[in-house]
Amino acid sequence: MSTKKIPLRQCIGCGEMKSKKEMIRVLKTSEDEIVLDATGRKNGRGAYLCPSMECFHKAVKNKGLERSFKMAIPKEVYETLEKEMEQIG
Ligand SMILES: [Zn+2]
Repeated sequence: MSTKKIPLRQCIGCGEMKSKKEMIRVLKTSEDEIVLDATGRKNGRGAYLCPSMECFHKAVKNKGLERSFKMAIPKEVYETLEKEMEQIG
């Protein structure tokens, strides 16, 4: 039996479980900023998204980020994230 367990994370858009490596981490910094964490190395509370605009838009619609970070997400933050997502995707 394999003892290696791949840690799965749930996409806040589509709700699918995938390994961390396949996903984009969205991070809330200690300054309450919401940023995309491409390296996965920054500290803070994270939420995960598939690298697709579809999932991003789903997450906006179902307020996945609001629920993950327990705070209101300003429109400008969504706009910034959307631009960054476009570059990644
Ligand atoms: Zn997804």
